[in-house]
Amino acid sequence: MNPYLDSELVALGDHARRFATDRVAPGFQERDRTRVLDRRLMREMGEMGFIAPELPERFGGQGLGCLAAGVIHEEIARADLSISYINLLASLNGQIMSHHGRPEVVEPWLQRLTRGEALLAIALTEPRGGSDAANLRLRVERVGDDYVINGEKTSISAADQADATVVFGRTGTVDAGAHGVTALLVPMDLPGLTTKRFDCHGQRAIGRGSIFFEDVRVPASHRLGDENKGFVQVMQGFDFSRALIGLQVLAVARVALEEAWEYVAQREAFGKPLASFQGVSHPLADFETQVQAARLLCLQTLWLKDRGAPHSAEAAMCKWWGPKLAYDAVHQCLLSFGHGGYDRGLMEQRLRDVLGFQLGDGTAQIMKTVIARSRAGRAAVTN
Ligand SMILES: Cc1cc2nc3c(=O)[nH]c(=O)nc-3n(C[C@H](O)[C@H](O)[C@H](O)COP(=O)(O)OP(=O)(O)OC[C@H]3O[C@@H](n4cnc5c(N)ncnc54)[C@H](O)[C@@H]3O)c2cc1C
Repeated sequence: MNPYLDSELVALGDHARRFATDRVAPGFQERDRTRVLDRRLMREMGEMGFIAPELPERFGGQGLGCLAAGVIHEEIARADLSISYINLLASLNGQIMSHHGRPEVVEPWLQRLTRGEALLAIALTEPRGGSDAANLRLRVERVGDDYVINGEKTSISAADQADATVVFGRTGTVDAGAHGVTALLVPMDLPGLTTKRFDCHGQRAIGRGSIFFEDVRVPASHRLGDENKGFVQVMQGFDFSRALIGLQVLAVARVALEEAWEYVAQREAFGKPLASFQGVSHPLADFETQVQAARLLCLQTLWLKDRGAPHSAEAAMCKWWGPKLAYDAVHQCLLSFGHGGYDRGLMEQRLRDVLGFQLGDGTAQIMKTVIARSRAGRAAVTN
């Protein structure tokens, strides 16, 4: 029994797990090698209604709650964290675009997004830094009916595989900080836009890279939110993705723990199952406890969001605790397998995959600053 999941959500999770087991899990290691996201799989996920189900029907969603998105999300992540990026990017961008875009511009994109026909990235980080995001410098200038973009975004997930990206650029003065930033929906096939792929440690099927803009012209109709208000208005969407990321990485930890328990129950040393040694079973029991608690926090955060209640601090808690805990838990599981855990295999790939989220979408330090501000007040916590 879980207080946040009624029988319909449990059934939805079971449905997603069957799909993920049959269709997503088998290619987990192969996609890590080829570094290519499987577009056919993405379309299948769209057909199943697994991509951004929380969006209203007119945008191709099903009007389900954010908890429903979370339940699907964790089942896909359990099979392959990189593939669950499809869900993450769709839910994050879907929320931003549906709330802040012009319907005639964003509707066709959202329809494609939910059908699994389009992948959208989100481009905030720049070469000069990602933590101090409000100080971004990508130049965006209004020229007639267009915005003209110049500069570089870097460390962007799916940079070279996405069909469009939400870009944050500076339309105001540098002194204006967060109040001089505008968000735009930018199709990736525009003239002057190029990308470069990085060789990543993990999350290799989705990948990461830079996006270069050289006089890229985007129609002004593609603005998301008001001019100079993009950061303040649009960043609220990140509370949603932070809770989803928590579920995403904890799903990886949960499957790693299941496999580790099974292994230590049957593998013997000194004539007894490994599980009989407290040095083996107690660390796993510690992680079992903490992972369960952290998952409840993530579900609670989505539950608050579904009710329109404040949840920024809770989302930041999910985002720093989930990835740290998941990494430590998978690390412990890997060690439980002895030398076999260190071979190229499921555990070492999971460890590489979850590590990325200690950085992606903001580091633990930045999340803790968000939490500290919510408790001590913004004036007291300036950095
Ligand atoms: C797997 C992965 C996926 C990513 N996907 C995306 C994406 O899709 N889109 C996107 O825009 N970006 C993405 N990023 C970039 C990510 O958001 C940034 O890496 C992150 O925000 C940190 O920025 P930085 O790397 O420039 O580090 P910096 O900002 O240079 O910080 C370096 C270190 O200093 C610490 N630090 C900085 N300031 C403070 C402070 N005030 N107090 C305490 N500590 C501080 C940081 O926590 C960090 O540990 C991704 C990164 C990774 C690894």
